[in-house]
Amino acid sequence: MRIGHGYDVHRLVEDRPLILGGVRIPYEKGLHGHSDADVLVHALMDALLGAAALGDIGQWFPDSDARYSGADSTELLRIVVQGLRDRGYQVSNVDCTILAQRPKLAPYIPKMRERIAQVMDVSPECISVKATTEEGLGFTGTGEGIAAHAVALLLKAD
Ligand code: MG
Repeated sequence: MRIGHGYDVHRLVEDRPLILGGVRIPYEKGLHGHSDADVLVHALMDALLGAAALGDIGQWFPDSDARYSGADSTELLRIVVQGLRDRGYQVSNVDCTILAQRPKLAPYIPKMRERIAQVMDVSPECISVKATTEEGLGFTGTGEGIAAHAVALLLKAD
């Protein structure tokens, strides 16, 4: 068994769609970034790569590379999971937490779990997504940005 942790932050800005866990969420702002800035999927990929000690998404998908401009992060997640499978790893489970003051994310969480599970080709039971506010404190509390944490457990067949 191998465990990994991922963390990511993106700034909330006008005129961008808000995409979390591969799901488009109606909101007045969206996350700024080179790709679609899906902070949840980014944290998750870093957790998966961390578990296998395979570096981080900055190394896998450099934001200096025009190929990843506006990239759908779930497509990058697909590549990461395939990279793990190629090295003999299987995903046991993942647990993710989104830190956001607004919008209310609870209604979208089942869809995010389903979407992530589909992309990773695992059961939704293996994918946990939670959301919390930080009680108005810090940059998530003021709505300047959204952060996400993820942990992942991998199994390696011997
Ligand atoms: Mg990111």
